[in-house]
Amino acid sequence: MGNNVLEKSIERTKEKLMSKVYDLIIIGGGPAGLTAGMYAGRAKLSTLILEAEKPGGQIVITDEVENYPGSMEEPTGPKLVGRMVKQYKGFGGELIMEGVESYDFDSEIKTVKTSKNEYQAKSIIIASGASPRKLGAKGEDAYVGKGVSFCATCDAAFFEELEVYVIGGGDTAVEEAVFISKFARKVTVVHRRDELRAAKSLQEKAFANDKIEFIWDSVVEEVGGDGLVEEMTLLNRKTGEKTVIKADEDDGTFGIFVMIGYIPKTDIFKGVIDMDDSGYILSDENMKTNKAGVFVAGDCRQKPLRQVVTATADGAIASISAEKYLEEAFGH
Ligand code: NAP
Repeated sequence: MGNNVLEKSIERTKEKLMSKVYDLIIIGGGPAGLTAGMYAGRAKLSTLILEAEKPGGQIVITDEVENYPGSMEEPTGPKLVGRMVKQYKGFGGELIMEGVESYDFDSEIKTVKTSKNEYQAKSIIIASGASPRKLGAKGEDAYVGKGVSFCATCDAAFFEELEVYVIGGGDTAVEEAVFISKFARKVTVVHRRDELRAAKSLQEKAFANDKIEFIWDSVVEEVGGDGLVEEMTLLNRKTGEKTVIKADEDDGTFGIFVMIGYIPKTDIFKGVIDMDDSGYILSDENMKTNKAGVFVAGDCRQKPLRQVVTATADGAIASISAEKYLEEAFGH
């Protein structure tokens, strides 16, 4: 009896959700999606953000966001995202923690399916972001959480007074090497070339830091150990020489932070939404994709600079474009 009542109530909720057609569904709740949602809310569009993990995307795993205008006071990624979510919800937007598994963008009313529900909307913004790229080294997967990490903010504190190797030469690697040096005894940045890609201001900070050293022209071939990371084999790409780095005997282990860029989370859109060879979605300057009523914003889009400031700008433009599309297609 009790079960029947519960089942009926679930059915009714599902029917209600299915009969509701949102003006806009945003796939992804990072800075791009949240900003798009905020603009849509201000424009009185009924808006739903579907987020597979937790709101914020890459920025929640960033300790210090010092180059987003106005982020000076409490510059951590989680704080910034917390304020964005509050602002979005303040304009009446809904946020549901469900990942999109399939969709139909062909009809005028578009359908998006998660593992739990089906939602409908007149327009879509894809703001699915990107995830950290892996090294592809032997042993890498087996030691994730046992010394191998992709998130300095999450894991740096575990390496208090230990040695840490940061792999990569871009903004993330150099910025996070500086952050990790607040915890670790020594940080070594391992880069595959002899010149960093990171912004000069970040490079200066790292070069001036006594705890940070560099290994150039090298890539990680293998990670090993007995439970925790204990050794790592590096290959010098210029000389062909291999070096096995072993954990200090007293420490027993060391950390490997992999910071070698990101891969766009666009797999499910392949074949439907036009993208480049790396999987970044193609759009015009109004964030329009090849599908009518489907827009894109943020790190999953092909563009020259992926930062919070460009993600939020994309989100604002995508939202205004969706609003115009709704006016034209539905007389909103
Ligand atoms: P990125 O700029 O793509 O840099 C990736 C780094 O990893 C490069 O140095 C690259 O080497 C290296 N790499 C790539 N694949 C590798 C592999 N398989 N093995 C070894 N090394 C490999 O990525 P990112 O640093 O994560 O930055 C992503 C975006 O976020 C950028 O647009 C960046 O400006 C932005 N960002 C900005 C800030 C900031 O402004 N404070 C902070 C973080 C990130 P090569 O140099 O040889 O290509």
